[in-house]
Amino acid sequence: MLNIVIFGAPGSGKGTQSARLVEKYGLNHISTGDVLRAEIKNGTELGKTAKGYIDNGQLIPDALMIDILASVFDSFKDSKGVIFDGFPRTIAQADALKAMLAERNQEVSVMLDLEVPEDELMVRLIKRGQESGRADDNEETIKKRLAVYHNQTAPLIDWYKKDGKYSYIKGVGTMDGIFADICAVIDKL
Ligand code: AMP
Repeated sequence: MLNIVIFGAPGSGKGTQSARLVEKYGLNHISTGDVLRAEIKNGTELGKTAKGYIDNGQLIPDALMIDILASVFDSFKDSKGVIFDGFPRTIAQADALKAMLAERNQEVSVMLDLEVPEDELMVRLIKRGQESGRADDNEETIKKRLAVYHNQTAPLIDWYKKDGKYSYIKGVGTMDGIFADICAVIDKL
């Protein structure tokens, strides 16, 4: 199985590039943000819990997120591979992902770090908020999410380097150019 962690700050293009990877390689896709937004829309207990964190730009507690991830992963049958989009976001989540995959005789094939400068992220997220109406894409919450990214999520770059899975992807340029860079890495695996 091809297990790809697509990594990067909010607004780095993880969702856009994931959709293309799904189409090209026939992979399953887990976006933890999408899972949580669906729970909120459906008014579930989980959705109610998640909303408070999301609206405040904070992360959902690890234990909850890890359970959700394992149950979505196990719902895929005869999968060619999975794209993890928006997970892991903390060291505890990366440890848990490694353990969960090992229990299933699997491992992460590669971590793709889509790097985009902060001023560009801000512009993209404000534009996305205007177009999609996503509640957390407003200036105040975006700033909190970027701070959370730097403090809690960016340390995963070193974690994956040490694990030998890290791959840098320049996240600015054309969507096609970025996708070609990603495919070049995957095709070498
Ligand atoms: P995203 O769509 O990936 O930008 O996620 C939107 C929001 O959902 C984040 O700001 C967090 O509040 C929450 N979220 C998504 N994925 C995770 C995760 N792996 N761990 C904790 N919170 C998450």
